[in-house]
Amino acid sequence: MAYEDFLTDCFGELQKMQDDLNKAYDINSFTSWNYDQPSGIITLSKPDKTINFRYYQVGTYSTASKTWKWSWDNENTSKNVVVDIEKIKGFGIANNYENLINGEFPSYDEIGWELSSICCNLIGGIGVYRPVVDHLKIHIVLTELIDNDLAEREKTKYVDCENHERRRRAFICQHLKEGSKNGFEESFETFEDMEFEYEDDDFVAWCNECEKLRIKEGGLSEKCWEEGKFKIVCEKCYFKIKETNT
Ligand SMILES: [Zn+2]
Ligand SMILES: [Zn+2]
Repeated sequence: MAYEDFLTDCFGELQKMQDDLNKAYDINSFTSWNYDQPSGIITLSKPDKTINFRYYQVGTYSTASKTWKWSWDNENTSKNVVVDIEKIKGFGIANNYENLINGEFPSYDEIGWELSSICCNLIGGIGVYRPVVDHLKIHIVLTELIDNDLAEREKTKYVDCENHERRRRAFICQHLKEGSKNGFEESFETFEDMEFEYEDDDFVAWCNECEKLRIKEGGLSEKCWEEGKFKIVCEKCYFKIKETNT
């Protein structure tokens, strides 16, 4: 199929989706937005209402340089929200669609909507949200409405680290530091970037001293948390400490 024909199909589908999205959520009435790249959640709010969606980021159009940049080509976009490069670029290569192959290229204002419609078709989504920051038009595909409480719970699982930006949170007892060589006990085997088996799982580590108390208590009790004065660090810091302690 010629690129133009494929695009026409996708664009038609997107227009229907946008109509439905607006009917369901009156999406353009929200006055502020905030997205959280690590958790992949965008929050839209107005004085009397807040809603949350899961999303992925298609890319950005710069009105200053008049160029399009795919999220997978943008180092500032967290890997948790970039488009699936295999699905887009792979499809582009298979069909010789240049716009899906090049990470960044000169283009026109509408390109973001066009490529977003293609992403909705190839990857999925329920519509597009397009906030603007300075000269950047950010194209975001919404994939699912989620409950506000769930959104808050998921967002609290991430922490801003002064060295590593925003990452998953982890808990360590006050005695663990980089190179402290005083053990590194955990309740399950961990590695960086792992996916947790259960929704409530967290990275938690404690030292040899805290381990003695844990054994006495028969588990990581309230007392262990109190006496260990556990604190929150980012996932990257956690594994740095783990590496230097084991
Ligand atoms: Zn400790
Ligand atoms: Zn960190």
